[in-house]
Amino acid sequence: MSKKKTTGTKKITESVEGKDVSTNTVETIQPSTVNTDQPKSEPPKIAKSEAPVKPAKASKDEPAPQTESLPQPRRSVAFIGSECYPFVKTGGLGDVMYALPKALTKQNCDVKVILPRYKCIPWEYQEKMVYRGSFEMDLCADGATYYVGIMEYVWDGVVYDFIDNEFFFTAGNPYTNLVDDIPKFCYFGKAALAALNYMDWIPDVIHCHDWQTGLVPIYLREMFGATPLSRSKVILTIHNLRFQGKYDIQMISYWSNLPMHLFNKDVLKESYDDANMMKGGLTYANMITTVSGTYAGEIQSPEYGENLDAHLRYHSGKLRGIVNGIDYDMWDSSKDDLINTKYAIDTVLKKKRKNKLSLQEELGLEKNEDVFVIGLISRLTNQKGLDLVNAILPAMIDGNTQVVVLGTGDPWYEDSFRNYEWQYKGSVCANIMYDEGRAHRIYAGADALLVPSKFEPCGLTQLIAMHYGTIPIVRETGGLKDTVLPYNMYTNDGNGFTFDRYEDGLLLDAVNRAKTLYFTERDRWDDMVVRDMHKDVSWENSARQYRQMYVDLTC
Ligand code: ADP
Repeated sequence: MSKKKTTGTKKITESVEGKDVSTNTVETIQPSTVNTDQPKSEPPKIAKSEAPVKPAKASKDEPAPQTESLPQPRRSVAFIGSECYPFVKTGGLGDVMYALPKALTKQNCDVKVILPRYKCIPWEYQEKMVYRGSFEMDLCADGATYYVGIMEYVWDGVVYDFIDNEFFFTAGNPYTNLVDDIPKFCYFGKAALAALNYMDWIPDVIHCHDWQTGLVPIYLREMFGATPLSRSKVILTIHNLRFQGKYDIQMISYWSNLPMHLFNKDVLKESYDDANMMKGGLTYANMITTVSGTYAGEIQSPEYGENLDAHLRYHSGKLRGIVNGIDYDMWDSSKDDLINTKYAIDTVLKKKRKNKLSLQEELGLEKNEDVFVIGLISRLTNQKGLDLVNAILPAMIDGNTQVVVLGTGDPWYEDSFRNYEWQYKGSVCANIMYDEGRAHRIYAGADALLVPSKFEPCGLTQLIAMHYGTIPIVRETGGLKDTVLPYNMYTNDGNGFTFDRYEDGLLLDAVNRAKTLYFTERDRWDDMVVRDMHKDVSWENSARQYRQMYVDLTC
């Protein structure tokens, strides 16, 4: 536990990176220290984070890299988010937090990524982190202060700063339940800003991701207004509007210590007694982005707006969509050690068959390179269109088709896929697990990948599939619509098979259209495989758009 109540401030000296640095924060404690003997009802203090110290050299003072060939001007960006591959990933957000900063460094951006130091981060990364300093930060309405440690790890041109606090980040998973997650992310958002001040690293743009960082734009304007950080612009990216950080007003106001007048319907108030962290962030952000153009439009409608559609329509002037990409180093079938047989565009048609056979062997399916293998890699939640898949699965299994599912989530879906595996032994395999290696082998070995989502902000699995020469079968929503061009039998063009309304019959029709092409016009199918591998789904184009937005916002 690292919670500590303090009764006052005192000037102390601490050692950061071997240098003695004078600080004016309250006494620094180690994460394991706890002192609960102090009086509980002190008046709220001004956040000590507003009075930052300078322990380390600001990276903006460091010699500028050779940038002649890079787009100008240079911009500095702090990414703040709750997960990031390879440290911790539960879904697409983790991929984006890893790949976009990396792509931005190639677009002349100086990027720092601020993350929680969860206990579940593998030891191979924990042991390489370097201590950058620590301080105490006021957080709660009763004046409770908390330890903020900063642990740094530099990799691939990106600086990762982990906020260390054992009280908040001990759980094995980044997300547990809202009762614990709300305080955790009230703390994290403020600690991330305080850490930037503390490191004297004042970025041009603070780029926040999802509801876990929804309070950052508000803290920035309401609590850091008198600090150098106040000159930074702030962007909030919605990766999935379904999750908004809604909870009791009393709890959020206690943990954030934000003034009560902000709990009104234009900022943080959701309903009579609930506050909404995402909503408040949307109000205060200078720009709002989401991860595809179609989703940016959809979320302004009641069908997709998750009760924030009116709020988003009101703020639509600062809302735009930029589609995600995938990291070509992470997803490269010609260098992928996790798959059985590596392949490139010129060898895909031959070598994909080998990957199919080895996948079938690994999963205990009937080994036959002529059957049509359909993959599904997904969180098992109702967002992902699994009701449609469940409804048509028996109709898909026709003796020439195999279905491979990889995912975890809602027990109802987990059990239904297990049941189908039992019912169609040898043709259906339900991998109820999270397994990166198996995901790679399914992308490499399957012929097609199903993504029939009810809504899909962007979706990465269809992008990875195309890059691995696996044909996506998707519903025309969000980023799926923006990234998968439907196959056109007259022009022999397109990247996959699509359907529009959320109906099982339409999904089955799309699957059958795919099978018909596969079994009757294999040369056309093969053309599409090669076309998909050629398609540019990298981060480069998207990173260029983000960079331009940073420049537009700060010039
Ligand atoms: P979301 O963020 O909604 O979960 P995305 O399509 O944006 O969906 O991203 C999903 C990411 O998580 C992809 O990289 C996918 O390969 C990966 N993934 C999903 N489920 C699993 C699993 N069970 N095992 C391994 N990787 C998975």
